[in-house]
Amino acid sequence: MQHTSLAARYRPQTFAEVAGQDMVKTILSRAASEDSPAPAYLLSGTRGVGKTTIARIFAKALNCERAPAPEPCNACVQCRSVTQGAHVDVTEIDGASNNSVNDARALRETICYAPMEGRYKIFIIDEAHMLTTQAFNALLKTLEEPPKRVVFVFATTEAHKFPVTIVSRCQHFIFRHLAEEALIAHLTAVLRKEGKIFEDGAVRLIAKRAAGSVRDGMSLLDQALALGGASLTAELVRDILGLAGQELFDRLFEAFATRDCVAVVDLTRQTARQGIDIGFFTRELAGHLRNLFLLRQGGEAMLPVLKLSENEEAFYKAVAQNFSPAHLHAAWQMLLDSQRGIAQSVEPSTALELLLLNLVLLPQLLPIDSLVLTKQPNPETPAVTQTPQTAQAIPATGVSNTPAPLSRTAYTRTPAADPAPEPSLKNAPAKRTEQQVIEQLSNHPQLQACREVLGATVEQCVEDKRKITHA
Ligand SMILES: [Zn+2]
Repeated sequence: MQHTSLAARYRPQTFAEVAGQDMVKTILSRAASEDSPAPAYLLSGTRGVGKTTIARIFAKALNCERAPAPEPCNACVQCRSVTQGAHVDVTEIDGASNNSVNDARALRETICYAPMEGRYKIFIIDEAHMLTTQAFNALLKTLEEPPKRVVFVFATTEAHKFPVTIVSRCQHFIFRHLAEEALIAHLTAVLRKEGKIFEDGAVRLIAKRAAGSVRDGMSLLDQALALGGASLTAELVRDILGLAGQELFDRLFEAFATRDCVAVVDLTRQTARQGIDIGFFTRELAGHLRNLFLLRQGGEAMLPVLKLSENEEAFYKAVAQNFSPAHLHAAWQMLLDSQRGIAQSVEPSTALELLLLNLVLLPQLLPIDSLVLTKQPNPETPAVTQTPQTAQAIPATGVSNTPAPLSRTAYTRTPAADPAPEPSLKNAPAKRTEQQVIEQLSNHPQLQACREVLGATVEQCVEDKRKITHA
């Protein structure tokens, strides 16, 4: 027998069965029960969140033999006919391939006739933003004077491409991404109905990977079940979907703690070798840094908020003590700033490597405020090493020596011509210009090593640090 996809087998047939989108379901269900649908609806939102599914359920509810009712019965001839896509009065049109003015004119001609079998004539236009301007104009005439017992449902992922004249004649509902917890509940219910053995961690991973799209979640689950064994484990899901294993994250945080550049380069190679999904890897890493920062900042009181599994809690508790909150905050910020760049890079693997090296070397990037406030250096003596303050700011090794919390004022641009100091500050060290700081930093041996590894100039490092502290 041919395999039918999970998404097809578990396609919701009533409003109640649809996961999420509570507001839209309530309004459409009420319109069906009161038998007072609007002439046109615009359902917009990202793919796979239930726009066409809800449109079909609405079409059934309006045409059901037991209507007006809040839900379709799914048993009568009308309901079954809509489910099979064979109802003569419910027309589904793909906006991408029927987008010409002639298609719109043909539509207008059929609209003139009363419904033949059902109570309403319903037109569901999918990918409706693909319609041409002429097609929209032809439709506009119909929407200006909507015939009785005709309902339009436009579904689109790009509502901004809709002419305002059309939008203003529609009830517009924006579909939200499904919350991770709701998607987990949905996938868990499906697995129970299928009688499968599974780990909660496996479902959680799939839900996370689907990023709020029910359809994506169902296809990923289908894929995992098709390739997996008797039970669905988190490890198996990671393997099948090309996700980094927990062992990789353990080693990565170990490398961050010991500032081991070699290990990081090796781990990046491993992600490339295993064909790990880099986009999802950075999302997971961002999630880890967020949880670690919150745990470090809020302590045990944060645990109920984070809703961690036993394994995750043990992992975070073991790792958190190796990093200061300031370090985790800066690392999290740096990662979020880099995510888009990595996704759009022509060399995502190299971009990832640079990011991870930046994260390893983050504690070694100097707190510039200490330098900015030090005295003008004597050109004879080597830069940076002259003041104990600065020497302290460059820890040789060891996790406990992480720099003081990064302050917002630390990396602000120092004006070229400083105003005269206040009398009370007369004896305070003179501020240096940014250029002077950069020159001074360029000579520092530790930063030179850093630069070789990063392949970045000191100016870039300073700019990066500024971005981190100002974001
Ligand atoms: Zn029915």
